[in-house]
Amino acid sequence: MMKRIWQRQGTEEWWQGNMDRETLADTLEEIALLLELKGENPFKIRAYRTGAETVRQFSGDIVKQAEENDLKGIKGVGDALQQKLHELASTGKLEYHENLRGEFPETLFELFNIQGLGPKKIKALYDKLSVDSVAKLKEVCESGAIAELAGFGKKTADKILEAIEFRESNADRFRLGDVVTPVEEILNALKQHPACSRAEAAGSYRRSKETVHDVDFLVATKDPEAIIEHFVSQDWVDRVIVKGSTKASINLDNGLQCDLRAVSNEEFACALAYFTGSKEHNVVMRGRANARGYTLNEYRLAAKEGSGNDEPPVFYSEEEIYDFLGLDYVEPELRENTGEVEAAEEGDLPVLVKTENLRGTFHNHTTASDGQNTLAEMAEAAMELGLQYLGIADHSKSSFQANGLDEARLRSQIDEIAELNKGFSERGDDFRLLAGSEVDILKDGTLDFDDDLLGELDYVVASVHNAMTLSESAMTDRIIKAVSNPAVTMLGHLSGRLLLKREPYAVNIPAVIEACAETNTIIELNCNPWRLDMDWRWWKLATEKGVKCAINPDAHRTAHLDFLWFGVRLARKGWLTRDNVINTLDLSEIEMLLNLDPV
Ligand SMILES: [Zn+2]
Ligand SMILES: [Zn+2]
Repeated sequence: MMKRIWQRQGTEEWWQGNMDRETLADTLEEIALLLELKGENPFKIRAYRTGAETVRQFSGDIVKQAEENDLKGIKGVGDALQQKLHELASTGKLEYHENLRGEFPETLFELFNIQGLGPKKIKALYDKLSVDSVAKLKEVCESGAIAELAGFGKKTADKILEAIEFRESNADRFRLGDVVTPVEEILNALKQHPACSRAEAAGSYRRSKETVHDVDFLVATKDPEAIIEHFVSQDWVDRVIVKGSTKASINLDNGLQCDLRAVSNEEFACALAYFTGSKEHNVVMRGRANARGYTLNEYRLAAKEGSGNDEPPVFYSEEEIYDFLGLDYVEPELRENTGEVEAAEEGDLPVLVKTENLRGTFHNHTTASDGQNTLAEMAEAAMELGLQYLGIADHSKSSFQANGLDEARLRSQIDEIAELNKGFSERGDDFRLLAGSEVDILKDGTLDFDDDLLGELDYVVASVHNAMTLSESAMTDRIIKAVSNPAVTMLGHLSGRLLLKREPYAVNIPAVIEACAETNTIIELNCNPWRLDMDWRWWKLATEKGVKCAINPDAHRTAHLDFLWFGVRLARKGWLTRDNVINTLDLSEIEMLLNLDPV
């Protein structure tokens, strides 16, 4: 959880090892649980629990204050806890916590990642049935022994088994957001080696899949052995799996497997195409080569024996290969064999949206709810990125665990935004904050604020945050009812999934897309790397229906605005063009679209 896998000097690491409110609170809670398992003094245990709760609820920037050791006087956080929070926030780890963990078998901590297994249940399992690993947990669920424990019925056992299965099926996968730092770093190091003439990370990483299994690096070089040696001797290597003269495989310390292949400059383009995949795309490409009397493999395109063809030239880029086979260049994100080869043949491929097309974004949080930066700080950071507008959509009152705003607080935020906007305009900044809300879609499909208040906002994001276990038809009706409210501008994180952690809730996505088309509701591409929701597989349908996309980072701190990078990659994977994405509109176009008065 806390392990800093990759630390780049001087840059903020939001994708891993980054200290946030969640991590602070989770650590205190984990300490409480471990103390409980040890049978320690209940007052001490309670102090950690209360501390965790306080950290979660605190209205200021608790992480910054902890970092600066400025926690005096916060109710619920005593001296000892202050010290620990400071150590954790400033160094990224806590010795006391690590020592405590050391007293338990490493396998025990697997249990903490099983969805639906809270501290109380873990303690009961550990005390009464000596369950200290997922394997043992599975055993007691399957044998029925778990039913001896109070509060563990058959239904609970089934749920636990389901959660275990979900974890097992995802055990060796990684979120794109969790691998991007190590991958880019390895790539940089490879490129810097004097024997490297070209290097690329291929595979599903290059295709921007939302999760990846391993990463394939490819280097063009005249000296493969030097490159291999360089690759396996870096400090990112946890374990060398195999090392040959042109290939090597290693594990990073987060478990990610990385394979490297060294090829010649002449082979590089074909190898890159081959190792980028997908397998299905490659099959179609090989078939196409075959039909024209050529063979295509991971090293070259060659004339088929007896075809009467001349040997083709050496290809130095993928573009040349596609061109030779009568195709427009297919961007890596599209290579999933979902119609891209046919479109490339007909000159029908979309011109995909690019990061530099973005002019602003909509769904972001501040310290008013569960964000960690103020309105002014968020605005400043957005301007630094070159954005012209930043939409603020803090949580609404039903999301009390996220310190959601009630009517009065939202109204005062609207005023505060108007004040700030006046300031930007006086300074001559071409920038505007938009006053919105991420309003909860209640269980019955009504919204958490009345229409009057919603009407005072510049725009509204509607999202589901609770009651996620409804039946598919009830959930679908609920969401359709919400988007049918004319006040709703866009639908937030449609499926509620958390990649590798929580399955999407049951919902009929085509029906929701249809309803959004009918009601002119934008669908969000939430680009928090845990979500990447709506899934890229649905955007083609959405654009066919005329539904627009908003790429939204759901930023909870300034650094999260960088999530836009993931958003663009996944938007491209969904075949989205500049026209499909509303954040490519400039400020005056957005003001027109949202019917806003000038500042
Ligand atoms: Zn949300
Ligand atoms: Zn949000």
